[in-house]
Parts: sequence; structure tokens; C-alpha cells
Amino acid sequence: MKIIFLGAPGAGKGTQAEIVAEKYAIPTISTGNIIREALKNGTEMGLKAKAFIEAGQLVPDEVVIGIIKERLAKGDCDNGFILDGFPRTIPQAEALDAMGIIIDRVVDIEVPDEAIAERMTGRRVCPDCGASYHIVNKKPEKEGICDSCGAALVQRKDDAPETVADRLKVYHDQTEPLKGYYEKTGKLKIVEGLGSVADITARVLKALED
Ligand code: AMP
Repeated sequence: MKIIFLGAPGAGKGTQAEIVAEKYAIPTISTGNIIREALKNGTEMGLKAKAFIEAGQLVPDEVVIGIIKERLAKGDCDNGFILDGFPRTIPQAEALDAMGIIIDRVVDIEVPDEAIAERMTGRRVCPDCGASYHIVNKKPEKEGICDSCGAALVQRKDDAPETVADRLKVYHDQTEPLKGYYEKTGKLKIVEGLGSVADITARVLKALED
């Protein structure tokens, strides 16, 4: 199964992608995670992306398309995959089509902007192992400390309130038009993204199995 998860940043795509990936035994590919990893390692691609990511802007299409081409060529994608955070623009979707990739389902997780802003500004992440928490909804056992590896949690620079507003604008301007793009293919399923993680997973699985 080849699946795309659409939705605003902070709509819960990442969490759902991980759950579904495990159930279907396919990899989840997050361009955001790949870029953050490159940033952390100081690679050339990471340096190119740094200013964009920190300002809440999209990294140029050619950079992310290159990342995806390289990643999808790996053998673990042969039986399917989940794309989390790609495509985010019409040219990226066109590039995927041009690669000859036939997507089975596009799941759009919808959450109102106000709820997104609350989720993102309250998110805290572990800089070492990547685990994600929330100051209200998913507290670590010990405040500010990662349950999995004990590192001090941080707020992603792009989760700061002023950047979140910019990211939502970027989403509405550049990514939301993808709904129309995939609606035309008949593969788009819209899932209500408010509620518990388990409830949303149930809706997502139903959308995939319908
Ligand atoms: P995410 O963790 O998916 O919200 O991604 C974090 C940041 O990485 C975004 O705000 C963008 O700067 C960059 N990014 C991730 N995926 C893409 C993409 N498909 N196109 C452009 N920029 C991206």
C-alpha cells in the first residue's frame, strides 16, 4: 500500500503515520525528519535547508524532491510506504507522478487552525531520540525530561508561536491545494483529526480500508 498523509503541520500526521506503518509493516518517510537529521549532522543539504525550516518556510522543491527520490529507491519501499509531509506543493506531487509512482490512498487529517496552534506551541521534543511530547496532552513522566532516553526536552524553533502562524499560512497557500489535486484522482479521504489518538487511528484505518 502506498499512502500519502496530508494535513497541516501539527495535525497529527506523524503519530498516525507511525501507527499505520507498524500495522502494515511498511516504512514511514517523513521529509521533515530527514531534513532535521541532516541539519543535526551539518550536511550540505542540512545547511541549505536551515534558514527555511527555522523561518517556517518550505524548503525548495528541488531539494525535497531529491530527498524523496533517493529514499524511495531503497529496497524497504518495495512493498509500499507512507509519505508523511510530502508532497507539500503541487510541483512536488507532479514530481511523484513523474516518477511513475501510483499512490493507493491519500488521507487528509483535518484539524482547525486554533487547535493546531495549541498543539504545536505546546510540543516538546527530545533532541537525542526524537520522541515527541506535549506540555498538556502528553506530558513526560518527569517534566522536561525524555521518558525514553533521559535527555532534556526542547521546543523546536519552528514550534515557537510566531513561526507557527507562518507555517499555517504556508500550509493554506501551498499545501492545501493538494486536496483538490488528489480529489480529482478519487483517492482522497478526509479524516476528522480532533479526538483521542485511538479514535483518529480508527478513522484513518477505516479510510484506508474503504
Ligand atoms: P515537518 O516536521 O513535516 O512539519 O517539517 C518541518 C519543516 O521541514 C517544514 O516546515 C519545512 O521547512 C521542511 N519540509 C518538510 N517537508 C517538506 C516538503 N515536502 N517540502 C518543503 N519543505 C518541507
